[in-house]
Amino acid sequence: MPILIEHCAILNPNAPRAMALDQSILIEGKHIAGIGSAPLDTQHSLPTTQHSAPEVIDGRNLLAIPGLISAHTHSPENYMRGATERMPLEPWLVWLYGTCGEYTARDHYLCAAMSAIEMLLSGCAGSLDHLWHGGPWQRDYLDATMQAYRDSGIRATVAPLYDDHDYVLDAADALGVDLRGSTYGLAHGGYRPDREAYRAGVLRDMLDLFDDWMTDWHGEADGRLQTFLGPAAGQLVSDECLQMSLDLARKHGAGMHMHCVETRLQDYCIRRAFGKTIIQRMADLGVLGPDVTLPHSVWIRNDADLDRLAEAGAIPVHNPAANLKLGSGLMAMREMLDRGVTVALGVDGACSNDNQDIFDTIRLAALIHNLKHHEAATWISAREAVEAATLGGAAALLMRDRLGRLEAGQLADITLLDLNSPVLSPMNDAYGALAYCETGRSVKHVIVNGAVVVRDGQLTTLDAQAIAQEFRERVARLPFRQPLDARTQRDVDDCWRFWRLVMARVERGE
Ligand SMILES: [Zn+2]
Repeated sequence: MPILIEHCAILNPNAPRAMALDQSILIEGKHIAGIGSAPLDTQHSLPTTQHSAPEVIDGRNLLAIPGLISAHTHSPENYMRGATERMPLEPWLVWLYGTCGEYTARDHYLCAAMSAIEMLLSGCAGSLDHLWHGGPWQRDYLDATMQAYRDSGIRATVAPLYDDHDYVLDAADALGVDLRGSTYGLAHGGYRPDREAYRAGVLRDMLDLFDDWMTDWHGEADGRLQTFLGPAAGQLVSDECLQMSLDLARKHGAGMHMHCVETRLQDYCIRRAFGKTIIQRMADLGVLGPDVTLPHSVWIRNDADLDRLAEAGAIPVHNPAANLKLGSGLMAMREMLDRGVTVALGVDGACSNDNQDIFDTIRLAALIHNLKHHEAATWISAREAVEAATLGGAAALLMRDRLGRLEAGQLADITLLDLNSPVLSPMNDAYGALAYCETGRSVKHVIVNGAVVVRDGQLTTLDAQAIAQEFRERVARLPFRQPLDARTQRDVDDCWRFWRLVMARVERGE
């Protein structure tokens, strides 16, 4: 049935206070069929084969904005929200790998469902999930995650995370710290003495598994679900693995999603191993393009790399909350935007943020760069932060021309906010209100791919209460809820020692 939203306000940069009043939006199938001043001529706008009367949503006192998109998270971390603090990324990762245990398919279903529930209820219509698993991949883990996103109604892209060689372990070895036998090392290549055999055997088999999974799921649910490839990070993959990954992604018309120099330690390890930065390495390999999304990209700093990024059209994903929590640094977002780079936003996993609220991430993106530059004209504006979560997110999902704008012909992902909500009253400027005031509490309805998935603040798809209940019951059995065992504590301590050795070196300019 078509949907007609009547008499709403619409986010519009050209209107007074960035808000066009008394508008209507007609949704037909999964697309916006018409949009403009109320009333719309619905009979005229509808194809002749469609004569059913539309469902009418009263849009009075509502603001329609494009459905927001988080272009980076890790749904398995939902179990661990609020569990850590005062650790930079590397010791934090050792803790994570040492204590996460191995999830079942049901765990993955619940984690993805919880992620979707939190996102949808706070106005986020789309998510890119860089999915990890604390052990070898099996098809049912991937299918369970996809099924949760299918059931929830959110627009979801899933990129399973994998690696083939850890150049961090090599750097640690060189500095006299043996991390190979640690739980982190075992998860990341400590047991792979023969790299060629690993690539030809385990990695090839894994990519074959992903190939079959992508064949079954990419474009499912009327295009709402996508499958990308998610090589873990520049310091965790060989050149050959990068090339194999992008080749397979392109075979399916999908994207490649990879952590990129989140920390200075990673940048150090990559430069040590390859004699060049990750961006120069990717550009030289020809694996940098508009179908490549690079979460974090914090330590892309020199002009040549920023220019390479712009020229290739690759998309950095800014995760300000996680970068603050783990002390990683501030992305050069202004320098990127000035070069025409499209920047997306990500909430990142709930162990490093620790929520999945895109409005919180927009607010941080609009605020934290003020600390970096003295000249206020270079600060990130409210509109730039909001557009990173709309236009930037659409580009990250490889839907640049189809998503992120409220225009006829676009996919119908729409969030409707209650203008009577205390955080939006009064609405002095729509971009300012969305970036600095909104917390997700004003979300009234969310429409994804033409379907109402949140109505009057309630999910229409999953039973959110039942899922939360099961989720809370299952978490008690996981290792991270137990006191830290001596071995993991030793591994974390060793990693701290390595981290301090590297940081002393990078402070000296190495
Ligand atoms: Zn991440």
